[in-house]
Amino acid sequence: MSVFSHVDFDHHEQVVYGHDKASGLKAIIAIHDTTLGPALGGCRMWRYATDDEALRDVLRLSRGMTYKSALARLPLGGGKAVIIGDPHSGKSEALFQAMGDFVDSLGGRYITAADSGTGVAEMQMMAERTRHVAGAGQREAFDGGVRNGDPSPSTAYGVFLGLQVAVKHRLGRDDLKGLKVAVQGLGQVGFSLARQLKGAGAELWVTDIVEANVRRAVEQLGATAVGQNDIYGLDVDVFAPCAMGAIINPHTLEALRAPVIAGAANNQLADAQLAEELQRKGCLYAPDYAINAGGIIDVCYERTGGSAAELKAHVEGIAATLEEIFRRSQVEGATTTAIADRMAQERLQGGR
Ligand code: NAD
Repeated sequence: MSVFSHVDFDHHEQVVYGHDKASGLKAIIAIHDTTLGPALGGCRMWRYATDDEALRDVLRLSRGMTYKSALARLPLGGGKAVIIGDPHSGKSEALFQAMGDFVDSLGGRYITAADSGTGVAEMQMMAERTRHVAGAGQREAFDGGVRNGDPSPSTAYGVFLGLQVAVKHRLGRDDLKGLKVAVQGLGQVGFSLARQLKGAGAELWVTDIVEANVRRAVEQLGATAVGQNDIYGLDVDVFAPCAMGAIINPHTLEALRAPVIAGAANNQLADAQLAEELQRKGCLYAPDYAINAGGIIDVCYERTGGSAAELKAHVEGIAATLEEIFRRSQVEGATTTAIADRMAQERLQGGR
């Protein structure tokens, strides 16, 4: 398949294939746009069925990073990496060191970070070979503690603030007392979000494919457990997707009753057109890459060495961005996703 005529090519600046015979590494790095700074984006490891599938994923994800960072007013461009391999059985130190060499060969135009299938341990292995890695070390957290490079607390905090803005805009409510929220996925972000919501007085309905995660939320947060497929049709105020992508699709759309969708998952809409259907249904959708930007903001501050207080203030800016998206969507009649894309393009052009 030609890269230049690929439907997702979208004027990428650079797409590089990497192979290391000794470790078996097969990877692609895509740099979409470096107008605002070096391209930063996670390194995903996945069992792609074909190379084309890996190419499509990396192109779409790297473009998404350009938009996410621009909208979050970060001095970063968009890029992404994928390793073609099984994240459960295909990992080795040699593989990630080879990936570190591959990242290093781009001389800092691309900075890598954790993503699905990789975490702090893999970033540390890459960091043995390149300094262009984020999320490999310990740092001060804005909640007062010290933590490793995991950005999920910042992501969860940003989602919590964004959810409040959405609730105010759509339901006219200033506080979350008694607000009914359905949380799908109780992993790093979902559980932290659920804890903050509980602290603000919300009532929780939760689901996860891992039983222990559900039990923890029931026991620690007094949440009500529901089945995986029952989470969509609940009579709640907010649906907070914090598990996987493409969960808003024609099938779930019919079941969904919540007037607000605000959660951390990436690529929540299976198809961009669904934003219009949500709008027609009267459902306010917080665009995923706007509300979940806390993670990339966190990673950026790790690189630039900003203080925990500066990081917190920047994450809090997500609330103002969402307010603007919702207001413009209402005034202009366009979907929230169309407005978010427009604002990202404006910020990108402002930086040219
Ligand atoms: P995670 O892997 O820690 O948590 C995901 C949770 O979802 C897990 O507990 C998993 O068991 C559960 N899950 C998976 N499939 C499910 C299903 N069908 N139904 C219910 N639960 C299911 O991941 P995370 O770091 O908490 O991230 C959650 C989402 O937010 C992902 O989509 C991720 O891409 C996105 N995101 C995360 C960050 C971050 O900083 N971690 C930043 C931006 C976006």
